[in-house]
Amino acid sequence: MTSLADLPLRPDLVGRTAYGAPMLHVPVTLNTNENTHPVPDAVRADIVARVADALGTVNRYPDREFTELREALAAYLGHDLAPEQVWAANGSNEVLQHVFQAFGGPGRTLLTFPPTYSMYPNYAATSFTAVAEGRRDERFELSAETVVAEIRRTRPDVVVIAAPNNPTGTPVALDVLEAAYDAFDGVLVVDEAYAEFMPAEAPSALTLLPGRPRLAVARTMSKAFAFAGARLGYLAADPAFVDALRLVRLPYHLSAITQAAALGALAHAPEMMRMVEDIRQQRDRMAEGLRSLGYDVAPSWTNFLLFSGVDDPAALWRGLLERGVLVRDLAIPGALRVSAGTAAETDAFLDAMRALTPIGAAR
Ligand SMILES: *Cc1c(COP(=O)(O)O)cnc(C)c1O
Repeated sequence: MTSLADLPLRPDLVGRTAYGAPMLHVPVTLNTNENTHPVPDAVRADIVARVADALGTVNRYPDREFTELREALAAYLGHDLAPEQVWAANGSNEVLQHVFQAFGGPGRTLLTFPPTYSMYPNYAATSFTAVAEGRRDERFELSAETVVAEIRRTRPDVVVIAAPNNPTGTPVALDVLEAAYDAFDGVLVVDEAYAEFMPAEAPSALTLLPGRPRLAVARTMSKAFAFAGARLGYLAADPAFVDALRLVRLPYHLSAITQAAALGALAHAPEMMRMVEDIRQQRDRMAEGLRSLGYDVAPSWTNFLLFSGVDDPAALWRGLLERGVLVRDLAIPGALRVSAGTAAETDAFLDAMRALTPIGAAR
């Protein structure tokens, strides 16, 4: 058996481990913030028809500029965005990788605010970008003062802020993002992977785009559109910012099949948003249930919750798994993260928590 150590690996990759959310097959999977609701049948049928159509010309390379998809994404986002302001790739993971390839690199630094999405340092590593970690305020919040102080201290070239944040679910106010933008001359990426789960009246960072050519707002169809398996992420920014990403993408990176499937899902955005509303309700029911058991639940604008006050998170994680419920242990002291389920999954999770709390202990 050959092992990694036997191969002439790039020196900076030696000793690194790959992204590793456990992929266990259990009845109630609430560990990676997927949309727990399947795509409705009628929407599926439309997507299948569009993909079948796309297969008719799959002998040709796809539209490299994914023009129709960019138009549909711009229309979906609103805010008077033009298609030239939209970029897409295979998941927002690839979109963010493009940003690092274009704006990070040797001699440059990413500033990130842990606990946050664990992939940001990975994009930095594979693009030879150094990583600086900023501190947060009490209860994982971010204030303008803290963000500006951390930017002055670490002098970054790229700042990524997840808003709302993962794994805490907590919102980030727009004045924090404005202050961050003004505090340096690199690029600010606001990762709005969970934007559709925010309260309806909460403003998006998209409203900050006019006059801010170094700002990008990243979104994904993985969460709200129940499309994690289809891989479609996107961002909105100044057209010049988008041109920079064209320099680093591989040609034809978005397959004709992906483009057709995404267009199909976007055509049914209102139906998909009704599903989002149901998930929000389950999330709130989950939060109430956890609070009544004595856990501390961080305010969430997402499709998941971070709850703390857990004496032994590893033991509670195992106990839940034994009862067929998979949640996420992110090594945050005293805390676990759980994604909002369907009504039945939420019941299963709360039942298991009720059974385990006397041992798992809430304070
Ligand atoms: C889930 C998630 C993403 C989505 O990644 P995709 O590649 O689009 O599936 C991006 N950012 C954050 C913070 C997430 O939690």
